[in-house]
Amino acid sequence: MDHEDLRQWSKRAADWAADYHAGLRDRPVRAPLVPGAVARQLPMTPPESAEPMEAIWADFERIVPDGMTHWQHPRFFAYFPANAAPASMLAEQLVNAMACNALIWQTSPAATEVEQVMIGWLAQAVGLPEAFTGTIHDSATNATLSAVLTMREKALDWRGLDEGLSGGPMLRFYASAETHSSVDKAIRVAGIGQRNLVKVAVDGDRAMTGAALAAAIAADRAAGLVPAGVILCAGGTSVGAFDRIGDCIAAAQAAGVPVHVDAAWAGSAMICPEFRTLWAGIEGADSIVFNPHKWLGAQFDCSVQFLRDPGAQVRTLGLRPTYLETAGREEIVNFNEWTVPLGRRFRALKLWFVLRAYGLEGLRSRIRNHIAWAIEARDQLAALPGVEIVTEPRLSLFTFALEDEAATEALLARINDDGRIYLTQTRVDGRFAIRVQVGSFDCCHEDVMLIAKIVEEMLASCLSKPLPLP
Ligand code: PLP
Repeated sequence: MDHEDLRQWSKRAADWAADYHAGLRDRPVRAPLVPGAVARQLPMTPPESAEPMEAIWADFERIVPDGMTHWQHPRFFAYFPANAAPASMLAEQLVNAMACNALIWQTSPAATEVEQVMIGWLAQAVGLPEAFTGTIHDSATNATLSAVLTMREKALDWRGLDEGLSGGPMLRFYASAETHSSVDKAIRVAGIGQRNLVKVAVDGDRAMTGAALAAAIAADRAAGLVPAGVILCAGGTSVGAFDRIGDCIAAAQAAGVPVHVDAAWAGSAMICPEFRTLWAGIEGADSIVFNPHKWLGAQFDCSVQFLRDPGAQVRTLGLRPTYLETAGREEIVNFNEWTVPLGRRFRALKLWFVLRAYGLEGLRSRIRNHIAWAIEARDQLAALPGVEIVTEPRLSLFTFALEDEAATEALLARINDDGRIYLTQTRVDGRFAIRVQVGSFDCCHEDVMLIAKIVEEMLASCLSKPLPLP
C-alpha cells in the first residue's frame, strides 16, 4: 500500500466512520462476546506475503466492529465517557497524517505552541487564574504520577533523584478513599509505598475536610514522619465525591504541604460557572488534572495538567542530554521535560478544533443537558417500586440499587445483556449499586429517558419478592 492507495482508502474510511456513527443506536452498546471470540477468528501466524487491502478491509468489517464495546454510542452510560466529537476525529486524522513526535519544541514547533495556547484557553474556560500554565499528558494516571514524583522530590529537596529512596525519611501522602485507583498506582510506582498513602476519613458527604486533613498531617509529624503531598478528589469515580477543596488546600498550605487535585472527569463541567462552587478554592492548588478526553469531546488521549509553577515538575522530570538540545534556543519549552515519557503526540490540535467548532457555549449546553437529564432519569427510577436511589446526582452521576445485592447484580446483568444501554457498578459503604452517568457527546433526551423504561421492563424478573399489585 502506498500513499496514492491511502488517498482512496482514507475516503472509504471516512465514509465508514460516518455510517458507523449513524448506525450506533442499532448496535448493542457492550460487545456481546465471550473471551477468545475475536482471537479465534485470527490466524495464529503472521503473513509472509503482502495481502490486498480489500482482504484486510473485509476482515476488519467482519471481525472488529461486532467485537467492540461502542464508547461513542449515545446510550453509553457506563464508567465515564471517552467522547470523540467529530471535530476532534478530524483533527486526529490530520495528526495521523503528519505523524510527528513532538518531544521537543524543534521537532514540531506548532505542536508545542498550540499546546501552550490551548492550556491558556482551557485555564480561562474553567475559571483558573492567569498564573496557571500546564501541559497535556496521555492520561490522568500519568499526570498524577508526575505530580506525586514532584511532591516527593520537593519533600526530599531533590535528593531522591540522585540518591534513590532507600535510607530516606518516611514520606506520607494524603487522600480520601473516594480518589481513583490511579492515585494508589502513582504512590506505588513512585516508591512511596501503599501504606504511606493515608486514607483520610470523609464526612457524611464523602468529602475530606480541612480539619481531618490537618489532624492526619499533625499526627504524622508528631510521629516523626514527613508529610509530602495531598491529592484531593474533585469528582470521584465511584459516586462523584468532592473533597472540601478550598478548606483542604488551606489546611495543606498551613502545614506547608503541596496539593494535587484529581478532577479528571468533573473538570470539564467547570466550563459552566454555576458548577465551580464544587471546587471553590481551587486556585490555591499546585497541580490539577482534568481529562478533556472524558466529557469535553477531545478524544482519548488528552489529559491536561494545570500547574501553578511548573519549575518543580521540570526540575523533577526534565533531562536535557546533548541530543535533545536546540542550539541557541535554551529558553524554549520542551514539553517532554514536564512529563514522564519522552515521545509525545500532537494532542493539542483536537482541543483547538473542538473549542472552535463547538465554542464554549456549545460545550456548556451539552454538559448542562446531561446534568438535567441525569436528574430526570434519577426521578423516574426513584418512582419505580423496589428501586432505591443510593447516591444522589453529583453533576451527571448517581447510583441506585434494589433491595438486595443478588437482585441488583441480576438486574445489571440483564440490562447489559439486552444491549440497548450500558451501565456499570460500584460499592457504596459496602452496598453493591448500579452507576448511571450521562455524558455521551451524541446522547439526546430520549436516550437518557430509556434508562428508567428498560429498568422497569426488567425489574419484575429480578426482584426476589413480587411487586405489590397496583
Ligand atoms: N481520576 C478519575 C476521577 C477517573 O475517573 C479516572 C478514570 O476514569 C482517572 C483518574 C484515570 O484516568 P486515565 O484513564 O486518564 O488515567
